Amino acid sequence: MIKLAIVSPCYNEEAVLHESASRLSALFDELIQRGKIASDSFILYVNDGSRDKTWPIIQELHAQNRFVCGLNLTHNVGHQNAIMAGMMTARHHADAVVTIDADLQDDITAIEQMVDKHRAGNDIVYGVKVSREGDSFLKRRTAELFYKIQNSMGVKAVYNHADFRLLSKRALDELSLYHERNLYLRGLMPMMGFPSDTVEDVISPRFAGSSKYTLSKMLRLAADGITSFSTQPITLIIGLGVVGLLVSFLMLIYVLVSWLSGHVVAGWSSIMLSVWFVGSALLLSIGIVGEYIGKIYIEVKQRPLYTVEEVLGLTTKGEPCDKK
Ligand code: UDP
Ligand code: MG
Repeated sequence: MIKLAIVSPCYNEEAVLHESASRLSALFDELIQRGKIASDSFILYVNDGSRDKTWPIIQELHAQNRFVCGLNLTHNVGHQNAIMAGMMTARHHADAVVTIDADLQDDITAIEQMVDKHRAGNDIVYGVKVSREGDSFLKRRTAELFYKIQNSMGVKAVYNHADFRLLSKRALDELSLYHERNLYLRGLMPMMGFPSDTVEDVISPRFAGSSKYTLSKMLRLAADGITSFSTQPITLIIGLGVVGLLVSFLMLIYVLVSWLSGHVVAGWSSIMLSVWFVGSALLLSIGIVGEYIGKIYIEVKQRPLYTVEEVLGLTTKGEPCDKK
């Protein structure tokens, strides 16, 4: 029987925590009763530098609920790093970890199938969104577009899979060897090459609170998802440069012909156009190249991804768990 840990990142989630903990513990009771998971399985809530009562609520839940453990980070490090912090703590105490957002928009009944597929020999089980009715129209469309662009840029990630997944202890140990700062977990998963499978995940609306993914956080994740795994944008720029050069040759011919035929002033509009075009193409190109240089800058510093302030019910390393 496997000892399961559920890792759930929380940023200003005071409105959802009680409900989330009660749904997950009901699921645990059921799975334990049916002999699917060990009775010392646990739920690890990671407080990602929330400014509301998230941490006091986690402390309270830990005192009342035998499954709940907590990990408090000193400041907000973002969804991906918060999940990483939780997984790296939980891996010392569990045979497998399932990561799920605290708002339980993902289908928690899929967790049992994840456990079954893990027992059938898979190290990674992806939750794949089959329906996103619970997400807004805009979110659905932008996410789909993003998955497509990502795919065309050669990033190997499971289509319509976000961060609802099961990882075995072996996969977590392997993941701990990836030392990158610009973390994009879904891109790393297929790289490990372990046996994997998928389960269906039906997305429901948030039952409380509002999305903590601001537009800028979403764009950041999208940019990381492409630039951390693919140098295709740089290749594109080179292509763009070549095409631009061809266009300028045509322009040169056009300008020469106009000059010879005496229509000098007539070239004004095309020159204005090309100034704008070349200027913006240059800016864009420099920006994208700068994005990669920025990444190199961040990576070489090798700073820790997160800092742990306090752990409830678990130890940070492999020592025996002191959970009641
Ligand atoms: N989250 C986090 N740190 C952040 C932003 C979000 O830990 O800086 C958590 C959040 O509490 C939630 C999960 O990441 O558990 C997904 O966020 P949310 O549900 O707000 O995003 P959406 O589902 O709207 O994309
Ligand atoms: Mg959500």
